[in-house]
Amino acid sequence: MLENCVKHHKRCSYSGIAKVNSQWWPSRLLDLGTSSATPGPEIIRLIDPAKDTTTSYKYAALSYQWGGKEFIKLTAGSESSLRAGIPVDDLPLTFQEAISATRALCLRYLWIDALCIIQGCPDDWACEAPKMGLVYGKSHVNLAAAAATDPDGGLFAQRHPVLINGFVGTSPAGKEEYMCTFENDWETLVDCAPLNERGWVLQERVLAPRTLHFTSAKVFWECCESKASEKNRDVYAISSKVSFHQLQNGRTAELDPELAYSVWYEVLQSYRGMKFTVNGDRLMAISGIVEAVKRALPRDEEYHAGLWQSHLPWNLLWSIAGRGFRNESLVPLQERVKPSWSWASADPRDGVAWVANPKYSKSRAAKARVLKFEVEPISNPLGSVKNATLWIQARMCTVRIPMPSKDFNDGFEIKGRKVSDRSHYSFSHPLPSFDATLLLEIFTQTHEEINPELTDILAGLILCPTGEKGTYYRVGSYKVQHREDEYADMARQDAEALDRAFGECDLAPSQYQEFDGKEMYTVKII
Ligand SMILES: [Zn+2]
Repeated sequence: MLENCVKHHKRCSYSGIAKVNSQWWPSRLLDLGTSSATPGPEIIRLIDPAKDTTTSYKYAALSYQWGGKEFIKLTAGSESSLRAGIPVDDLPLTFQEAISATRALCLRYLWIDALCIIQGCPDDWACEAPKMGLVYGKSHVNLAAAAATDPDGGLFAQRHPVLINGFVGTSPAGKEEYMCTFENDWETLVDCAPLNERGWVLQERVLAPRTLHFTSAKVFWECCESKASEKNRDVYAISSKVSFHQLQNGRTAELDPELAYSVWYEVLQSYRGMKFTVNGDRLMAISGIVEAVKRALPRDEEYHAGLWQSHLPWNLLWSIAGRGFRNESLVPLQERVKPSWSWASADPRDGVAWVANPKYSKSRAAKARVLKFEVEPISNPLGSVKNATLWIQARMCTVRIPMPSKDFNDGFEIKGRKVSDRSHYSFSHPLPSFDATLLLEIFTQTHEEINPELTDILAGLILCPTGEKGTYYRVGSYKVQHREDEYADMARQDAEALDRAFGECDLAPSQYQEFDGKEMYTVKII
């Protein structure tokens, strides 16, 4: 498969990350040596290929789970012994078997994060983490320890031959024989493998030109042009046009921008429910994918902590998919990943849904305008952020949102008056006070403007004051849906009541940064 892919698959070898970065190598690699025939224990060494641009360091990369156990890592203390060479037997089983697999594929070099990034050194992490997408993208092959939950789990599983070869069954009368095999096991063995639940692994898999998935029952192959198992070649169809396979190998420069945006939203769907050891890594762990998507977009497109500039302000209208009002699942404001306006601040276990599909954004006029951003990245401008503020100009009103008693909405109260019980609101963070809540209008369509193709007629953000003048956390979003049933009139009345509330313009000076004298307030959201 590997040879066929390298020689004959155009999509796997043209214009991907490897071609764009032909002179680039990871800062460190493990040198497995050229022969294991020398007497004594097998030794591997840590080397610095980045300093040598004259040699080709074709390497495999390992995708695996750290788990909670202690194992040998590259640290300030262990660096000199790793450079001098350490016996393979001292490594955990997954690393040992990855070395065997790499050698079996006739490759000399291997990249393993724990042994190629100095652990416990924030400076080295800040320098190496943003290159992670490139490390996997430039690898010759990615070895995925799909079934293992820690480095002792290994790559090679004990398998029952029936799981690989199938078995021959006979009809009840014993006259006919059937060959029974497991054909549709990609989803259970690969997509649902323990490894593929980890957030960092998504970009490792998406950006690598080819991945060997070592699952509990079979070895599977995945590249830009083919999916196969060790028993059946090419039986797994590459999925539809809009798929993250479009991004595979970082081949995005020739993608249509609209398709690139669609793929981006699909990637975010795949990101749902993925697990992170460090919650704050969520933006960093897909920064390589962001970089690949960005190559397909117009040059002036900007990315702000998970949001695309040209999709604003619609991008701000995300909500928690299917979570309802089970507030216990929400991330407290103090623990949230910054900034609160990014989907990355929500609990990673939850999926993100878009209140207003960004695809439809062009067909309606936003009432709010994002004026500027101030994003202070931790290291990579496309990764996690220290602080991020946006300035937005919009109509706003103060509301009271009663604590919902059941799994449905109880509407808003404005000055003691109930205005809607058909609105939908969704919190991303618990509200510290239900009385000091503000709504910020992203769009409202009045009855005359209603386009029946659009499902919602008004939507905006729920904000909570930080205590600093005119500065807020985004704690949720709201919308009123267009109805064609007996509630159509009530939905319209709700939209009109909120429209009136936004028109009253009675915010106190402490509640905003600027007021345009008519109806638009400028506030900061952090
Ligand atoms: Zn291929």
